[in-house]
Amino acid sequence: MNILIKNAVIITMDSESPIVKGDIGIKGQTISFVGKDNTFTPDRIIDAKGNIVMPGLVNAHTHTPMSLLRSYADDLNLQQWLFDKIFPIEDTFTEDDIYWASMLSCVEMIQSGTIAFADMYFLNKGTAKAAIQSGMRANICRGLQCFEDKPSFEDDERMCEALELYREFDGSGDGRVKIDLSPHAVYTNTPKYLEYIANMAGKLGAGVHTHISETFVENEECIKKHGMTPTALLDSAGFFKTRTIAAHCVYLTDEDVNIFREKDINIVHNPTSNLKLASGIAPVGKYMQAGINVALGTDGAASNNNLNMFEEIHLAALLQKGVNKNPTDISAEDALKMATINGAKALGLKNTGVLKAGNNADLIIINIDKPHLTPYYNAHALVAYSVQASDVESVMVGGKFLMEKGQIKTLDVEQITYEIKKKGDRIRCHM
Ligand SMILES: [Zn+2]
Repeated sequence: MNILIKNAVIITMDSESPIVKGDIGIKGQTISFVGKDNTFTPDRIIDAKGNIVMPGLVNAHTHTPMSLLRSYADDLNLQQWLFDKIFPIEDTFTEDDIYWASMLSCVEMIQSGTIAFADMYFLNKGTAKAAIQSGMRANICRGLQCFEDKPSFEDDERMCEALELYREFDGSGDGRVKIDLSPHAVYTNTPKYLEYIANMAGKLGAGVHTHISETFVENEECIKKHGMTPTALLDSAGFFKTRTIAAHCVYLTDEDVNIFREKDINIVHNPTSNLKLASGIAPVGKYMQAGINVALGTDGAASNNNLNMFEEIHLAALLQKGVNKNPTDISAEDALKMATINGAKALGLKNTGVLKAGNNADLIIINIDKPHLTPYYNAHALVAYSVQASDVESVMVGGKFLMEKGQIKTLDVEQITYEIKKKGDRIRCHM
């Protein structure tokens, strides 16, 4: 099917022509042209007058099933939050819980303009099935933890689960779902087990997704225990040879930054989660100046407490300005890059993140014909500082609408909400 989206203001994220006023032609799954092409013969025409069209957002670090734990544990630091509250309740989760919570998160992400996400959790088949059904793109990984060494990790339960997930779902959903490997963090794994995971990632050529230097305590304890920073420990264990997503990175040393630059490691900034858990503020302006790819993520809905990427864009731009007392740090356009093209790179999505001919038709349509968006003089600034998630009207992945004019096309929102409310009642009994 050929779709023509016409009369739009298009934020392309293409450095050659960042803003185009005109049309986008879509042929099947890909963009045929951006601008004007009178030879294009559409089967369907969408008038986008009064709309901004831009690449769909990429949530490069999240734990989708945690939407089941929204407002379950708040106003605590990371260690108390994770070990006293989150890990115990997560032990009660079933694959059915994971499936419905992931479905709920897909609804929330689509409604707020997200087209792809990088997810770390467990019992991930439910998340993979939700991603396939929703039509979204997803990199999914089983968070691996091991607190005690064993003579052999061959029959390690978590790694077996990760490998089964890889065999069953890598490349599924017409290639929309990818499976990465994931050491949860250095403080939840022994160095030997880390080496085992790094080896496996190398063997499979799989991407790696992990948390690095989220808190000051994590760094201090790692240095005390292993004589090196979390980044140096992972490097010495053999990581960073395949595409790597490193979430948080609030406390990287200058040596760590050099490793990140040399090994082309992708940083994911999660400003809301870092603020809420009082972990600190990652100096991402400095990382970007060092030439490192920095993407954006929401983290899970238990530490955020939503999956709204527009809040992350807004905060990412404002925080660096305030902390560095420099209004030019992280421009509106930089913040949008973090949420689109940089996120796509972190997930290894080669033809997503920029609207140009030949790329995937992965885009969102934002209705800007609203009082709080009128008037405007700069499209990047309008989206970064004024647009709300609820202004997103339509979401397309690979030429297919996942949401059109506010209606989710791929998921049954009423049924998902019904199932989740039942599960919420069960969890409430544990409080
Ligand atoms: Zn996380």
